[in-house]
Amino acid sequence: MKTKPKVLISPIIFMGYMAVAFLSSCDKNNDDPVINTVQTQKEEIRKGQLNGQPITYVRKDGKNFFQGDIVLTDEQLDGPQKKGGASYSRWPSGNIYYTIASNMGSINRDKIINAINQYNSYTNTKWIARTNQSNYVQFIFGSQTGSDGWAHIGYRGGVQTISLDQYISVGSVIHEMGHTVGLYHEHTRQDRDQYVRILWDNIQSGQSYNFDKYTSGVDIGPFNINSVMMYWPTSYSRNGQPTITRANGSSFTYTRTGFTTGDINTINAMYP
Ligand SMILES: [Zn+2]
Repeated sequence: MKTKPKVLISPIIFMGYMAVAFLSSCDKNNDDPVINTVQTQKEEIRKGQLNGQPITYVRKDGKNFFQGDIVLTDEQLDGPQKKGGASYSRWPSGNIYYTIASNMGSINRDKIINAINQYNSYTNTKWIARTNQSNYVQFIFGSQTGSDGWAHIGYRGGVQTISLDQYISVGSVIHEMGHTVGLYHEHTRQDRDQYVRILWDNIQSGQSYNFDKYTSGVDIGPFNINSVMMYWPTSYSRNGQPTITRANGSSFTYTRTGFTTGDINTINAMYP
C-alpha cells in the first residue's frame, strides 16, 4: 500500500484548503479488465466548467457524468457563484450519514457493510447509518445485470447517491465511496504524464475526454498506479489493447482490491 492520489481543490473551497480530493480510477467497475461497452442509451456529450476548468462530460438520464462514473450536479457545473459563493466539498467533521435501499439485496448489502467498515477502520471519515439527518448519501441499486457504479462527487448537501449494480466488487464499492468523500480518478492527476502514458489511438471513439487531466484539483501524495481510484489498463479500449501503460510503455496489472496505504493517507489528509 503506497499510494497517493490527487486531491482536487475546488475553487469553491473555503479556507483555501477545502478541496475535494481526487484519486482515480475507473469508470466502469468491472472486475475483469474488459472493455467498457459503449452506451446505447441516449446520451449527449457536452462542454462545461468545473471549478473554473473547461471540461467535457456526458448528459445521460438527466445526470451529468464526468470521467465515466462521477456525477456532477447542475450546481457544481454552474459554479459556486450561483449558489452565493458558498459551497462545500468535504463532509462536515468527516461524518457521512448513509442509507441503503431496501431492494439492494444481501450480496450488495454485505459488500457495502464491508466497505463501510474499512472506511471506518482506516480513515478519519465516519460512515454512520442515518436517523433523521437531512444531508446524507443513499446507496441505491442500479440493476441486477451490470457491474457498474456511479456516485456524486464530494459533499453537496441534501440527498446524494451512490449507485451499485449486482456484480460490483467490494473494491469498486470503496472506489465509488471515494468519489463521495471527494476523490477523482488517479490518472487525471496533473502529474500523471510522469508515470503513465495514455494510448489515445486505442480509446473508443468519442471517449477520449475521460482521459483528460483534471487540473483544478490538488494532487495529494505521490502518484499511485495501484490506487483504488485508478482506471483499468484497458478502460474504454476500442480494440482490447491498453489505453494506459506505465510512462515507459510497459504494461501494468491492476487489481482493485481495496485501499492502498496512499489512498488512506490521502483521505486522512483531506479529513484530518
Ligand atoms: Zn470512478
